[in-house]
Amino acid sequence: MKVYLDNGATTKTAPEVVEAMMLYFTEQYGNASSLHTFGREAKDALDTARATIAKKLNATPEEIIFTSGGTESDNLAIKGIAYAHKDKGNHIITSKIEHPAVLSTCATLEKEGFKVTYLDVDKEGLIKPEQVKKAITDKTILVTIMHANNEIGTIEPIKEIGEICKIHKIFFHTDAVQSFTKVPLDVKMISVDLISLSGHKIHGPKGVGVLYVKKGTKLKKMSDGGGHEFRLRAGTENISGIVGFAKATEFVSEKDVRDVQKLRDKLMDGLLKIPHTQLNGSRKQRLSNNVNISFNYIEGESLLMSLDDRGIAVSTGSACSSHSLQPSHVLMALGLKPEIAHGSIRFTLSKYTTEDEIDFTIKTVKEVVEKLRQFSPLGR
Ligand code: PLP
Repeated sequence: MKVYLDNGATTKTAPEVVEAMMLYFTEQYGNASSLHTFGREAKDALDTARATIAKKLNATPEEIIFTSGGTESDNLAIKGIAYAHKDKGNHIITSKIEHPAVLSTCATLEKEGFKVTYLDVDKEGLIKPEQVKKAITDKTILVTIMHANNEIGTIEPIKEIGEICKIHKIFFHTDAVQSFTKVPLDVKMISVDLISLSGHKIHGPKGVGVLYVKKGTKLKKMSDGGGHEFRLRAGTENISGIVGFAKATEFVSEKDVRDVQKLRDKLMDGLLKIPHTQLNGSRKQRLSNNVNISFNYIEGESLLMSLDDRGIAVSTGSACSSHSLQPSHVLMALGLKPEIAHGSIRFTLSKYTTEDEIDFTIKTVKEVVEKLRQFSPLGR
């Protein structure tokens, strides 16, 4: 049996999505800026996809900017605000558990003279809105706090944080790459100026993303070129990718989210029956597809490789940092000891995950953990 439980890293592109994209490779391959029929077909597809994604967020099409993915959206949002509003202030507030796309962008800005406050999180990974309020100074121009964490699945109180930013007239950006289509996001209900999204986390293609930019928000563009994407992101639009992204937004229903959550709970409860384990993140404020567990006395990498041998794909930390020997910055921010953080595994489900796969995973993890502990130099 082959079991893919690394949907936080990337998802299977849904066959329906691939089918919708095909036309724009094989027949309607025009450039959306061209005036002839091929070009107009591409422009129609672009407009329709933009409207679909806008509707999903309860936004307007002019507020949807297509990018190459979550990383570019985070860069455009954070640097775009920082450079366009540096005359008003040089202070940014974020958290210690953001994705590297946000943390490295902030680090770059610090080298350029911006000041960044990295908020602590509690042991479940939650930020209290009060902390944001306290960190605000008269130089603060931007707050960037993720909607849901990619490693531990904790869902942050972005509605309350957005309200604070609105009162203080500070821009609010949220990275919703992991939460999109799992947790409802309505820009009329939440006070937010910028939202990052990515296609490949929601059964869409890789290499396409969105930055929602609230009407009237001034951003500095990152690259020079043509006037594409309302002059914010130059370059010929990736029509097939954009069409695929739009199609993917319709792929996961509320029922699918509930079904995945049931399987998530089964997996979580099954794995926590293994002695000397603990759940990382919040039980209540948690993404419907995320289980992150520390298995004491073993190395996460050994567990990952043994599970891979048995056909189960999982991850340690986030995919981007899993090649490093440093314990995950997210788990360290929760206050875990390095040796506990090193024994942590993330299991991320999708709509394609079946109950048989979950049963097989619980059984296999139990066996492998027992075996590894027998030989563990970390001993008991
Ligand atoms: N933000 C979060 C929370 C993520 O999980 C990821 C991907 O792992 C990204 C940003 C980067 O997205 P992309 O891979 O589309 O650049």
